[in-house]
Order: sequence, then structure tokens, then C-alpha cells
Amino acid sequence: MHIFNTNKELNTYIANLKQTGKTIGFVPTMGALHEGHLSLIRQSKQNTDITVSSIFVNPTQFNNKNDLDKYPRTLERDIDMLKSEHCDIVFIPTEDEIYPTKDTRVFDLGNLDKVMEGRFRPGHFNGVAQVVSRLFDIVQPDKAFFGEKDFQQVAVIRRLVKMLNYNIEIIGAPIMREPDGLAMSSRNMRLNDIQRKNVSLISNTLFKAVDLSKTSTVQETKDFVIRTINENEFLDVEYFEIVDSLSLEPINSWNESTTKVGCIAVHVGEVRLIDNITF
Ligand code: AMP
Repeated sequence: MHIFNTNKELNTYIANLKQTGKTIGFVPTMGALHEGHLSLIRQSKQNTDITVSSIFVNPTQFNNKNDLDKYPRTLERDIDMLKSEHCDIVFIPTEDEIYPTKDTRVFDLGNLDKVMEGRFRPGHFNGVAQVVSRLFDIVQPDKAFFGEKDFQQVAVIRRLVKMLNYNIEIIGAPIMREPDGLAMSSRNMRLNDIQRKNVSLISNTLFKAVDLSKTSTVQETKDFVIRTINENEFLDVEYFEIVDSLSLEPINSWNESTTKVGCIAVHVGEVRLIDNITF
């Protein structure tokens, strides 16, 4: 596995590979890797010749400084995990490599930046768009792989690709979960034992909501999810919305949309977790 820290080295290496006709798959991450990330690496390896992953904790997408400071960093372990998966290249840039000058670009993300995560994390998706467009320019992949755990993020990336005319296929991959249902996340490492025991209520309530939705209205289903999770003393729902999976507009009745997804954000002490489920 090749490890590069500068754009120039990576660029030269990839340009040579491309000249020999190799296709490039890309999996951007912020490190603290888990099975969710590895599932994306595996998918990239199955679908392209060369898999590039990046590890960069992007400051511009953190709207909360404490969250950035406390974000888990496990670089040595990450590198070992990527080696075990036979990832071909890992790009670990410094902040100066990604942002040689302060990035003040503002992207028009329309409604995608106004609802759910966009509403509660102002500036977050603009930061995501900044780093992903920068990484796309450097890596120049043919295909890029993103987890549906960050459902809204995938929608933002697809819009970005259209807006900036990137010739990159965006592939969304299913959510990987722990045995008790909890969506895998780097932030799960920050939970203490008692919090960790309680957070399985989030996914388990979403699973139950899918059953309930067959006999209940959208509003009743939403109320059930919010009430059930908030009844737990360790959990505090920030939002739960049932939206059309393409427009991300909230729906009021089940027949308003053919592909519906319920998205949730929950505070667990200082940690904020997200999850989603298809209805
Ligand atoms: P992050 O390191 O959190 O920026 O995540 C890097 C990529 O891994 C993103 O495309 C995430 O959506 C994806 N990812 C994170 N957690 C999971 C999960 N539990 N299942 C599938 N993909 C995930």
C-alpha cells in the first residue's frame, strides 16, 4: 500500500496509472476507521482497478469546535486496517495541502443545505463540498464511494458532481451496523459504557417504526420515534424527519413519495449521532 502526504506525489502516481488505463475508485474518510469504511473499500476494490482512500479530518465541515477537537484519531490503526483490506493507496494530507489558502468558496446546495443536518449544522455541507471537490480535483477518480449512513451527504455530493460537471460516478453503500443495530460511526468510540448500552434504542426504534408505518400515518410514526427515544434519559432527539429520498422534502402522507427515508439526529451527552431508515 502506498502512502502519500502531498498532492504532487499522489497526482503523479495516479496520472501514471491512468495512462495505463486503470480505473480509480475513491473512498474519502476522516479516519477512526470501522467496518462501515471498510465496506466502502471492498466495494471500490470490486468495481475499480485501483482503490484510493483518504484520511483527513476536515476542519471546515465542523460547525462545533469541541466536536472537531474530540474527533477520534487512530492513524496507525487505520493504516493497518487499510493494509489488511489491500487498499492500494492512502492519501493523508496536511491541512495546508488541502487548503493552501483559506477556502471561502460557497456552494449553492439549494434545499439540501437547509433541512435536517443542514438546518442544525450550519455550514457543515458547504465544508463537505469544499473538501470533497478539492479531493476530487486531486485524486481524479472514476468512481467515488459514500455511505448511506450519511444519507443527506450523498445527496449533496451528487448535486456537487452535477454542478461542477465532474465525470465521476457516485456510488452509495448501505449502512453497516453493530450486532445490536447501532449504525457504525467513528463517534461511537466517544460513548461511555452506559451510553453505549442505551444508544441501540435509536436503530431499534427506527426498525419498529417501519412496521408501525404500515398501519399508522406519517405524523403518528414520527411521534412514536421521537417519544420513544426521548423517553430514554440518555438520549435527546434533535430531529426526526420522514422525507422524499431525492428532494429531501418532508412528506405528510405515505403516498406523496415512492422512496421515503426517515432521518434522525440524537444527542447522547456530548456526542451527536445520526442514523436513517428506508420506509
Ligand atoms: P467519515 O469518516 O465519517 O467521514 O465517513 C467516511 C465514509 O464512510 C462516508 O462516506 C460515510 O458515509 C461512510 N460511513 C460511515 N459510517 C458508515 C456506516 N456505518 N456504514 C456505511 N458507511 C459508513
